[in-house]
Amino acid sequence: MANASVSMVKVTDVYESLQECLKLSEGLAGLNTNDRILIKPNIVSWDFDLPFPPYGVVTTSVVLNALVRILAEHGFRNLTIGEGALPGLSPDGDAVYEALGYKKLQERYGVKLVDFNQEEFVAIDYGDGFKLDIAKQALEADKIINVPVLKTHNQARVSLGIKNLKGCLNKKSKQYCHGVGDEELSRTFPRIIDKLPVALTIIDGLYTLEKGPGPTGKAFRKDLLIASRDPFACDLVGAAILGYPAKDVAHLINYAKSHGRSLELADYEVKGESVADHQEYVTYDWEWSEKDTGPAGFEKRGITGLAIRKYDSSLCTGCSVQYNPMLILLSSAFKGQPFPNIEVVSGKQQLAAKDFDNTVLFGKCACHLNKNNPNIKKAIPIWGCPPVLGKFVEVLAKEKINCDYNEYVRFRHYLFSRYKESEGFNLADWSVK
Ligand code: SF4
Repeated sequence: MANASVSMVKVTDVYESLQECLKLSEGLAGLNTNDRILIKPNIVSWDFDLPFPPYGVVTTSVVLNALVRILAEHGFRNLTIGEGALPGLSPDGDAVYEALGYKKLQERYGVKLVDFNQEEFVAIDYGDGFKLDIAKQALEADKIINVPVLKTHNQARVSLGIKNLKGCLNKKSKQYCHGVGDEELSRTFPRIIDKLPVALTIIDGLYTLEKGPGPTGKAFRKDLLIASRDPFACDLVGAAILGYPAKDVAHLINYAKSHGRSLELADYEVKGESVADHQEYVTYDWEWSEKDTGPAGFEKRGITGLAIRKYDSSLCTGCSVQYNPMLILLSSAFKGQPFPNIEVVSGKQQLAAKDFDNTVLFGKCACHLNKNNPNIKKAIPIWGCPPVLGKFVEVLAKEKINCDYNEYVRFRHYLFSRYKESEGFNLADWSVK
């Protein structure tokens, strides 16, 4: 529904604050009690092997629990929670749903739990040659309640409701969304919503995240809930809270153009808390060296002989998740001596440059794209879609570049432990009492 108001509430008690938020936005007005309702959280990834801080990364279970309880109290009985996390990199949905406490929602309210990756996808033609495979369960729902996280995204700047729907796609279509040119990320994923019955968006802002969307970014406690029946308006307000006017966010610009929507915050009604009172800039991207030779931190450490080209939007989430570990591994191989004149390229459009003795091709796409690149003296292909870290260590070891996987393990422990002393950070927010 276009031009419905957006509500924003400061969270005190999650259940009561969500009730207030839904009341202000008339969030349940478009739903019928006999509707098949699909609730779509954001569980972009999860990990049982190494510590995984979910703050600002994954929708909190306390918000989901409050939502299900409110819906049940209003007589809604046909509820499903569905998500399609990164296949191949995340454990199966059932185990994750158990860890997040969703099984209790199943027992208490009869909520069905669906891992899209285990179910059927349907090829949907958007016209003009644009096609996506969307989860059948999402297409067949009468209404979708979208529950993203209030977080930044190092490629899309903000990752809110419209972006969260990418989790309804199969692996192939997720990858397709990270194309080049007319198929560039900011043009593709905003179209997903056009075929889905999204009736309500609730942005979970208990925590927020800089340099998202994964746990390598840093989280902050925010205690906000933002809701609207208008998905675009909800994202526009969410973006404003993170410090990004819609006119600075390519996918919001593209969506606004194709749907005739205003990019001006002043054109939307916001009820409850004021945007100005909670607006705070949250960094979305990693600092890179001016010469595009690697993260700023590498330069500060005096790492030379290595040029890691900055990832672009054609690097899909699978490779993005492995990208930061790849940096940690390369950093662990630095023992004070220059690297042997190596360039690292990734994604679907980075072509290796001249003047390097070795070229690491990170991922299947970079391998294919640079197959006949005459600039390459010696290729070090890291096949995989996405590449596996163990393989990366193994291949580089053959080139006498010795990465220490334990350094990455230590890094993961550090990521998790840095919230231990932080006030307001509570892992119980990802459980159902
Ligand atoms: S290799 Fe990486 S960038 Fe290419 S399709 Fe696979 S995950 Fe995406």
